[in-house]
Amino acid sequence: TDFGFEEVPVEEKAARVRGVFDSVARNYDRMNDLMSLGIHRVWKDALMDWLLPRPSQRLLDVAGGTGDIAQRWRRRGGGPVTVCDINAEMIGVGRDRLDKAGGDPTVTWTVGNAECLPFDDRSFERVTIAFGLRNVTRIDAALAEMRRVLKPGGRFMCLEFSRPTQPWLDPVYDAYSFRVLPWLGRVVADDEDAYRYLAESIRRFPDQQNLTERMRRAGFEKVAWRNLSAGIAAIHSGWRL
Ligand code: SAM
Repeated sequence: TDFGFEEVPVEEKAARVRGVFDSVARNYDRMNDLMSLGIHRVWKDALMDWLLPRPSQRLLDVAGGTGDIAQRWRRRGGGPVTVCDINAEMIGVGRDRLDKAGGDPTVTWTVGNAECLPFDDRSFERVTIAFGLRNVTRIDAALAEMRRVLKPGGRFMCLEFSRPTQPWLDPVYDAYSFRVLPWLGRVVADDEDAYRYLAESIRRFPDQQNLTERMRRAGFEKVAWRNLSAGIAAIHSGWRL
């Protein structure tokens, strides 16, 4: 399958992304651990370390999937969380997982698109998106939306794959992404294409500096980033002032 997203109409990209996550929803958590060797957990913890959840703050976690960020936020003492994801399957898996762990009435699950968020202006003290912005068709529209729903004085953070900063890593990283990942996708999830899409979407995503500029253009201030694992991932932070 050719996943040349630049050449296909935006509606088609949105439909493909939905298809990818429909097919991976059941396996998502297991595959996440396997493919990242568990490192995604460390990165998500790093997001919390920088975000510093407070009970007085409401969080919107966009593209929240199965609720990893929401759970961490609550465990670290954050206030009510709304998880918003375009894919009802992912949300369903997340809700079941949370119910099995005893449930949490302060977590709300909403199906919605990052590009037109179903929330009023200035509703949340914090907004996050983890490994989600890469999948969004119009990144700039999503950034503007995430700023819109933030309260003035509120903070936005994006955790996403980024550009490795060590050139010696490149061949290892390429081999892992384009050989190991699709292979893992095939043998574990019986879905090679979904995992090839993953590697390609990572390559197409803006690097640290470019994402910084786009956040500024969307109106965020005091934009800064932190690299994780030598830039394989990065956290970007911006404020609505
Ligand atoms: N944030 C979760 C995590 O870190 O484990 C899930 C990340 S998963 C790689 C990407 C998620 O983005 C999927 O659940 C997918 O349904 C969601 N997604 C893709 N496009 C979206 C959009 N336009 N609006 C909202 N969610 C979207």
